[in-house]
Amino acid sequence: MTTGNAPYVPPGTGWPGDPATAATPVAHDAREVAELAASAPDLREVVARESVCRACDRLVAWREKVAVERRRAFADEEYWGRPVPGWGADAPSILISGLAPAAHGGNRTGRIFTGDRSGDWLFASLHRVGLAARETSVRADDGQELRGVRVVAAVRCAPPDNKPTPDERRACLPWLAREVADVRPSVRCVVALGGFAWQGVWPALKHAGYAPPRPRPAFGHGVEVEIGAPDGPPVTLLGCYHPSQQNTFTGRVTAPMLDAVFERAKELAAR
Ligand code: SF4
Repeated sequence: MTTGNAPYVPPGTGWPGDPATAATPVAHDAREVAELAASAPDLREVVARESVCRACDRLVAWREKVAVERRRAFADEEYWGRPVPGWGADAPSILISGLAPAAHGGNRTGRIFTGDRSGDWLFASLHRVGLAARETSVRADDGQELRGVRVVAAVRCAPPDNKPTPDERRACLPWLAREVADVRPSVRCVVALGGFAWQGVWPALKHAGYAPPRPRPAFGHGVEVEIGAPDGPPVTLLGCYHPSQQNTFTGRVTAPMLDAVFERAKELAAR
């Protein structure tokens, strides 16, 4: 890619895996997010529309500022600088949800959990248990493939301090809910990486037609909740500590702990 100083990659200009074109409709506020998520004809178009969204002023400004200023280690790289949509299998049996892309990870590479330390842990584990073709995920054109897995985030734009506001989470919910709805026929297990992802996935499951229990069970590593649906098979929500730098440095989450969760996800997906 070129190394210009643009705040984002214009859609349809050749970035590997770019789902959008210059004609992809752009949401400018939360109402338009809901409209465009609902009216997209298929998952491919949902993902394209997600990737050009400009509904949250604060997040658009932040993701583009980061893309221009860059981290020194990546100063010669062009940054994606756009929302990071769901990625992986179109008909997955396992859906993995994080909170939001990292400023110099997904916001740089254009692919979720790609190019940051959390992703290193996640993809290494997915590879060990047979759910990813490679043990690393570094660039959008690195040849990585997920096997029966799709990875999404509750919020599609990198937030300052990794903290999206409640309004930003609400604004982004229709994108997540539509992706969850589209994979419902095949998905049997949803893995929530961290407590924020756990909280964020409940409303998306409800929008997609599942019937979450009340009160909602608390997040914990290895916690499982089966969630029924009146018109289809249930799904099991599975909690997993986020492989953040803090959690991996302190040993709160280890490689065997991640592997055990994803092995369990495979069992649930095979039922
Ligand atoms: S966080 Fe979601 S709703 Fe907000 S601008 Fe990004 S993609 Fe759009």
